[in-house]
Amino acid sequence: MKCPYCGHLDSKVVDSRDTETGSIRRRRECLNCHKRFTTYERVENVPLLVVKKDGRREEFNRDKLVNGLLMASKKRDVERAQIEELVDDVENALRSRGAAEVPSRAIGEEVMQRLRDVDEIAYIRFASVYRQFRDVNDVRGVMEELLSHPPGTRQQPPRRRTRPGRPEEELPLNLGK
Ligand SMILES: [Zn+2]
Repeated sequence: MKCPYCGHLDSKVVDSRDTETGSIRRRRECLNCHKRFTTYERVENVPLLVVKKDGRREEFNRDKLVNGLLMASKKRDVERAQIEELVDDVENALRSRGAAEVPSRAIGEEVMQRLRDVDEIAYIRFASVYRQFRDVNDVRGVMEELLSHPPGTRQQPPRRRTRPGRPEEELPLNLGK
């Protein structure tokens, strides 16, 4: 199991338990950098249905989500292992709701909650697709939210703030990373 922080391949299991959703949750500690991370090992996949905005249902597609996140984190310092873990985490959170169906919106929210702590630029890119920003002011709203709250402290989705009259102002794309 590859460490998401340093890439080392050896880790020890510090805690292991079954989840309500049929997967095994393992807390691991990297033998190299000693950081801890969580893995979910899937035993059997009961299909999880996603209800789309138009009411259609489709099976939760893990690979599609991984690919979307890889796109959002392109050229950023994000390891594939981090993405995989994030998606495992999201899938587990969705399954642990205990419902056979989840709204597609719920997936986006679960991802956003976690992605922000992984990489802020990837978060903004993902948000811009997921929230289907209408214009630059929507993006600005997310950025301002991001800049005014340190990662990990935000519970609510970012507010939308509009600033009429200043739409051409340059976006602060360099967030210091
Ligand atoms: Zn490590």
